[in-house]
Amino acid sequence: MSEANECLFCKIIAGEIPSNTVYEDDSTIAFSDIHPKAKVHVLIVPKKHYANVAELAEQDSHELSHMVGIAKSIADKEFHGAYRLIFNTGEDAGQSVFHVHAHVLTGEVMAE
Ligand code: 5GP
Ligand code: ZN
Repeated sequence: MSEANECLFCKIIAGEIPSNTVYEDDSTIAFSDIHPKAKVHVLIVPKKHYANVAELAEQDSHELSHMVGIAKSIADKEFHGAYRLIFNTGEDAGQSVFHVHAHVLTGEVMAE
């Protein structure tokens, strides 16, 4: 697959599809989820295409820990450092975009 042509998040990273960007650096972007499941629902996405978190962990563990650091800084700003960090991995677990992304849910008290 030509990732830049076919992948939704590669298109957002390339600026071909608009997003509400809340953080960006050389390796990583974070933008609001289009269907928020919490008061603050941000997707943290490496700019390099990996299919899922397992692939990312094998190939670039530094980027994975960088994403966790970005999640913390978003939650520090939005909700005194409290947050949920979710990686849906595989279609049967609810993954619908096969470019690794962390869901950060924060900004309000979460139900169990
Ligand atoms: P997944 O289901 O793969 O874990 O998460 C994909 C997420 O991407 C979903 O929560 C969905 O709402 C979000 N999403 C899908 N299309 C778009 C889009 O065009 N823009 C943004 N900002 N989020 C999207
Ligand atoms: Zn991609």
